[in-house]
Amino acid sequence: MRKKIVAGNWKMNTNLQDGIYLASSINNKLLAETGIDEIGVVIAPPFTHLIAISKVINNDRICLTAQNCATESKGAYTGEVSAEMLKSVGVKAVIIGHSERREYYKECSEVLNKKVKQVLANDMKTIFCCGEKLDQRKAENHFEVIKNQLEEVVFKLSENEFDKIIIAYEPIWAIGTGVTASSDQAQEMHAYIRKLIAENFNNTIAENTTILYGGSCKPSNSVELFAKADVDGGLIGGASLKANDFLEIIKSY
Ligand code: PEP
Repeated sequence: MRKKIVAGNWKMNTNLQDGIYLASSINNKLLAETGIDEIGVVIAPPFTHLIAISKVINNDRICLTAQNCATESKGAYTGEVSAEMLKSVGVKAVIIGHSERREYYKECSEVLNKKVKQVLANDMKTIFCCGEKLDQRKAENHFEVIKNQLEEVVFKLSENEFDKIIIAYEPIWAIGTGVTASSDQAQEMHAYIRKLIAENFNNTIAENTTILYGGSCKPSNSVELFAKADVDGGLIGGASLKANDFLEIIKSY
């Protein structure tokens, strides 16, 4: 049975003190809940907060995740943070291919391939994001866009490597806009992604792959989204910055 996961992408939000407070609140509220032990919980704070947050959360219950990593393993790359550095402070997964990184930092598939390889080489999981722009959906190219994004990176991996990949489908027109994909639109794309995984690998791998939905997911729509057969949870931006909302989303299951 594939894992259900709710992941919080904090992006460039919170200073250290507020970040520690948020992580502690999520941790304490989560540990006080019963009946949701099987739901995987992920938080991805900014780099600067990772060490401190690893000390205030139960790392067996919350998967500490980074929002990015370097394409190279070490050396003269001023300002970069390697996957090995992240691993050494307790990080267990890295988000790769977020649309904001693709758009603002021009991260192309070649760059994303290198990053995924770095994450895998350090025995961490990758949350690999894919998603189409509004004009691509309007032109009905969305399936092709997603297929290409997957084929250019994660479908190049071996079966063993792909086992460490979590897919996040995030339609760009829904990220931070307040506009959510309908649960039917999400299900349609998730089922399509699972079919592609089956074609590229096999049915067992497809059935075991966690596919998250991201894009203005909040307590008011998470129940309906997560009820869909191929939606295995969410990658949450804005709503992950409020401990109560994030908990409500986790409890949607
Ligand atoms: C995201 O950036 O991954 C995201 C889903 O953001 P939001 O929930 O704010 O739309």
